[in-house]
Amino acid sequence: MFRSQLGPDQREAAISQLSSESFDVLVIGGGVTGAGAALDAASRGLKVALIESQDLAAGTSSRSSKLIHGGLRYLEQYDFKLVREALHERELMVSSLSPHLVKPVGFLFPLTEKFKERTYVGAGLALYDALRGFQRALPWHKHIGQKQIHEIAPSLRPDLITGAIKYFDAQVDDARHTMTIVRTAARHGAVIATRVSAESLIREGKRVVGVKAKNLVSGKTINITATATVMCAGIWSDELHAKFDLKPGYGVTMSKGVHIVLPGSAIKSNAGIILKTPVSVLFLIPWGDKWIVGTTDTPYTGDRAEPFASREDVQYILDQANRVLSPKLKVEEIIGVYAGLRPLVANNKNSATTKLSREHTVDRPAAGFVSIAGGKYTTYRVMAKDVIDRAVIELRAIKPESVTEKLPLVGADGYFALEQQVERLSQTSGLDAETITHLLNRYGSMISELLELIDENPKLAVKIDPDLLYIKAEIQYAASHEGARTVDDVISRRTRIAFEAQDHGVHLADEIAAIIAPVLGWSVKERKASVTAYEELVDRELEALDQLLEEHEAINS
Ligand SMILES: Cc1cc2nc3c(=O)[nH]c(=O)nc-3n(C[C@H](O)[C@H](O)[C@H](O)COP(=O)(O)OP(=O)(O)OC[C@H]3O[C@@H](n4cnc5c(N)ncnc54)[C@H](O)[C@@H]3O)c2cc1C
Repeated sequence: MFRSQLGPDQREAAISQLSSESFDVLVIGGGVTGAGAALDAASRGLKVALIESQDLAAGTSSRSSKLIHGGLRYLEQYDFKLVREALHERELMVSSLSPHLVKPVGFLFPLTEKFKERTYVGAGLALYDALRGFQRALPWHKHIGQKQIHEIAPSLRPDLITGAIKYFDAQVDDARHTMTIVRTAARHGAVIATRVSAESLIREGKRVVGVKAKNLVSGKTINITATATVMCAGIWSDELHAKFDLKPGYGVTMSKGVHIVLPGSAIKSNAGIILKTPVSVLFLIPWGDKWIVGTTDTPYTGDRAEPFASREDVQYILDQANRVLSPKLKVEEIIGVYAGLRPLVANNKNSATTKLSREHTVDRPAAGFVSIAGGKYTTYRVMAKDVIDRAVIELRAIKPESVTEKLPLVGADGYFALEQQVERLSQTSGLDAETITHLLNRYGSMISELLELIDENPKLAVKIDPDLLYIKAEIQYAASHEGARTVDDVISRRTRIAFEAQDHGVHLADEIAAIIAPVLGWSVKERKASVTAYEELVDRELEALDQLLEEHEAINS
């Protein structure tokens, strides 16, 4: 039986397997699409390897709005197929595939006018709810009148908002979910290695038979052989196609999306809020005891690995939200900011990015090589199935169909029962009920592995920071079981301290490094280097926000 644990020993074994064994399918890219593809292929019984040049979900898949949704605004573009497909995926995730990670969330669509707007928006939301068919994990939308709206959302301007319609979607910690898909793929036999970058293709005649990759930790080259190579490189697709000397049938345009994070006290509302903006929509999304507000949608051509928010991005978000909020959001309230890049499949490079389709494209630019790009986080499973359906043709053998529609991710089994046992788990573990619930919503039934760590070392039951819910066991577990290899991996993706803590978690970097150092076998020098690298990353990220704050102070002084 294979194990889902991703730790340093597993990585070492994976590196040696990559060069000594041959694979049916090699997946390039450990974002949600590559993770899904590895799981889809492994669960069909194929021999699979996945390589990721950075950390799991380090690209777009940790920087989304974190919504599992049908995409209300695609209705206005009459893209009913995309909406129906995404709503089906939402239902599967909430009810069976990953209920420990994907949770329903209510949104208010505020109205400024009493009859015409209510009829139009009401009809749209009725269609949205109807498109999911007979599946009903989430409640039906509901009309809310003027009196009630101000009880539900006191922060919505009473002089402007005349009512609302409440509807439901779902939300997820994207980076955690992607990592959990990868662990599930490992559980079904996939060989996983991060910090391994695909550099060039290995060819036999015109056929691609694998990849020359670089182990970015040791600097060594690895020749990986595979019958089918599947590229899921998102915004890196164009760059890699060019590097591999391939002529694909599509190009990938990048569009930047920025979010800001605010404390719970900044917005008084017991549901999320969606607002129409001149170019798209703006979401005010509840995130634990905080709010995530975004996003922007602007063309981007800069550094793919480190997209940062600009002063204009942050100002745009504040301005759009403040159209309906009273009191207004203030720049000093912002706790965190993050930027991501949407991979938009483009046929015509001159089109405005907002009009490009969110649907995905599968291509086979060479024998033995298949690629996919575009899509949405929500439809990762469908994208994965489509690309592996194409890849199995390269294997020239009859292979089973995808089974991921019936395959819960690790931690999902027994989750609904465990959810009913919070009190008992709290009594037996000595952890308070809030911490147990927090752990169940991050690990599901794998909570037992964390409780075992605490049994061995009770000091790990303590919170890493009194203002955050994370306990020290989670930090150790990130390195021993979840493939984290740096302070940044732990702060930015295994936990979301990077945008949840006031100083981006810089004050915790030393302590986090001290907890993971023994697991990763670090020297004192390596430990310090990982802390410094994180501090430098935060400095670069904070530049835009500091600029905005300085300007704000200058105006007010
Ligand atoms: C601001 C924003 C908000 C969004 N909100 C939502 C939302 O709410 N809901 C939704 O459904 N979708 C949303 N999306 C879309 C969604 O996030 C993306 O479609 C999805 O994450 C893309 O995943 P991916 O795996 O294709 O790409 P990525 O996550 O970028 O993964 C590609 C991976 O390939 C790796 N890679 C690159 N080159 C190499 C190489 N040479 N060797 C090995 N690995 C390599 C990269 O390091 C990267 O990890 C949003 C996107 C953005 C930007």
